[in-house]
Amino acid sequence: MRVRSYATDAWHTSSDEGRPVHDATSGELVATVSSTGLDFARMLAHARRVGGPTLRGMTFHQRAAMLKGVAKALSDRKQELYEASFTTGATKTDAWVDVDGGFGALFVYASKGRRELPDDLLLLDGDLERLSKSGAFAGHHVQVSRQGVAVHINAFNFPVWGMTEKLACTWLAGMPAVVKPASATSHVTAKAVEIMLDAGVLPPGALQLVCGGVGDLFDHLRDQDVVTFTGSAVTGRKLKAHPGLAEHGVRFNMEADSLNFSMLGPDVQPGSATFDAFVREVSNEMRIKTGQRCTAIRRTLVPRTRLDEVADALKAVFEATPVGRPGAQGVKMGPLVGLDQRAEVQRAVDALAAENTVLYGSYGQLVDADPERGAFFPFTLLRADDPLNHRTVHEVEAFGPVNTLLPYDDLDTAWELIRMGRGSLVGSVMTDDDAVARQAVLQTAAYHGRLMFLNADSQADSTGHGSPMPHLVHGGPGRAGGGEEMGGMRGLSLYMQRTAVQGSPTTLTSVARTWLPGAARHEAPKHPFRMTFDEIAVGDTLTTHRRTVTEADVTNFAGISGDFFYAHMDDVAARESIFERRVAHGYFVLSAAAGLFVDPGVGPVLANYGLENLRFVQPVYPGDTIRAKLTCKRRIAKAPRPDERPQGVVEWHVDVENQDEALVATYTILTLVARDA
Ligand code: NAP
Repeated sequence: MRVRSYATDAWHTSSDEGRPVHDATSGELVATVSSTGLDFARMLAHARRVGGPTLRGMTFHQRAAMLKGVAKALSDRKQELYEASFTTGATKTDAWVDVDGGFGALFVYASKGRRELPDDLLLLDGDLERLSKSGAFAGHHVQVSRQGVAVHINAFNFPVWGMTEKLACTWLAGMPAVVKPASATSHVTAKAVEIMLDAGVLPPGALQLVCGGVGDLFDHLRDQDVVTFTGSAVTGRKLKAHPGLAEHGVRFNMEADSLNFSMLGPDVQPGSATFDAFVREVSNEMRIKTGQRCTAIRRTLVPRTRLDEVADALKAVFEATPVGRPGAQGVKMGPLVGLDQRAEVQRAVDALAAENTVLYGSYGQLVDADPERGAFFPFTLLRADDPLNHRTVHEVEAFGPVNTLLPYDDLDTAWELIRMGRGSLVGSVMTDDDAVARQAVLQTAAYHGRLMFLNADSQADSTGHGSPMPHLVHGGPGRAGGGEEMGGMRGLSLYMQRTAVQGSPTTLTSVARTWLPGAARHEAPKHPFRMTFDEIAVGDTLTTHRRTVTEADVTNFAGISGDFFYAHMDDVAARESIFERRVAHGYFVLSAAAGLFVDPGVGPVLANYGLENLRFVQPVYPGDTIRAKLTCKRRIAKAPRPDERPQGVVEWHVDVENQDEALVATYTILTLVARDA
């Protein structure tokens, strides 16, 4: 079988055989991979001319719905991806991490996009910045989609998740993508692409696939394009040095190999839940994907006095873990991806063994597999005898089930050893002492993209050391490449341009479709609570009648709420306080404002479900007269549900003023409002 590429909305089969891909277990030929015949300039132009404009014309909510459609298709046909994954040496659990993790990331971004982003084409970033005394000139940051193409060059170890974690952010941000998977597992990625295209929700030009070499693709990259690279630092550095990237200012994000650490805290006793969690975590990281995870633990820091106990506990797990053909009865660990990779890991282990002591290196009896034909590699545990002076353990990544124990005598030494990795994707500390956790963050967070702490309380619910979560940043400084991916909505920034926009607040309101403080307001044609979602416009305002606050109000409110705080109830104490006399409760002011702006009759407002950004700006005293201004700040239509009346969220900006028109309170309320029938 020739692995096909997908270019300019058509499948492409290369004219030559290309590079062979063998089954990791049996050594049989699975596929050949070549990109010969692809016109890379045309592919990039197609993405820019066809895919980009369509995606940029879709709102964040429409793009989120698209992600959900793609995720659902992958989920419905995951069995096909599991089957393809077995040929790469992945067990069912390994395939689950890649495949289910892959569509899981898309589902998370679909849901976050729907809940956290506007139903609009641009994103407001931060708050309005006042740039003049009168307030007539201001600035706001916005983010818009970059008008180029995102090229994703991925590593072999996650043929599905490695693609989708990037596509989720790329598409939600409104950019088209060209994906180039590693050749060794490109047949799995091609299957996933086929499933995503079959879903019928991707617009033309949104996705293209290059299986095989990238030819002259880099020569055609331009200023609005983005390249992301995941793989070894050697390849990453080579690609980053391509003169075209610097010449055209192409964005480049790099995720490279790293020597992630895990550390057993000095407080943890053998036999405790935290000790067991540590052994489980370290052994899992060696077993899952046969240690071929960029986040896997390579350096394991252990108090010197616990070294033998940890080594013995790990050896017991290795002995009890059957290795063999993925899918065979009981097999928990499969082979590496191929014989080339096995040779590479062996070279790395030889380098490590020159300075460190090998404590364990066996897989016992292989289950249903031939050790010569399959790319099997034994669990390999080493001990660093002088980790402060021997550098190999901090420099050589053996991308397999390989780990080195590093003894430490005190915390300062531990932090130093951790930093000797010169930047990693992730580190973890198992400790029941939260003071150690804070020290670890202060001493080592600058060297990590993510830190995880496990103790007796959290270990059962933990998502694991090696699992990047779509909600959290994935990437790391220094040797790990200096890149950053995912992290919830932060992940979109790579594919968007942040621009400062200056003008009058009214102009900025029109640009942002969000009412901003200082912008023009217009009296609503009728009471806002009598208007449907579709009738309300951004800027619609209700200015209420007035109400004079009395001492009886304050006393009654204290009685109802049970809040007898001295500033409201004790004349003497209030006189000596910063208020200098008794003041009304802030919450009374809120309640009174609601009484001023609420229209009580049955109408389109279904519920008031929240209040945000509340500030009490000035005290309100008995005798003051207040009124409220309610202005529509933003409208967000909700996706229709069969069992629900069509509705939307309307955010109202509320200003409460006193008799001198001075602001006393300001906040945003969130209402659910019915749509036109
Ligand atoms: P690799 O050999 O560096 O390859 C990575 C990607 O670059 C592959 O798609 C490869 O394609 C491509 N490539 C290689 N040479 C290229 C060139 N001259 N021009 C354009 N593309 C080129 O890495 P790998 O062996 O696939 O992955 C293992 C490494 O990746 C490990 O070191 C691991 O730590 C790291 N990794 C890091 C992360 C992370 O998030 N930080 C994640 C996963 C893996 P071909 O296969 O076709 O050559």
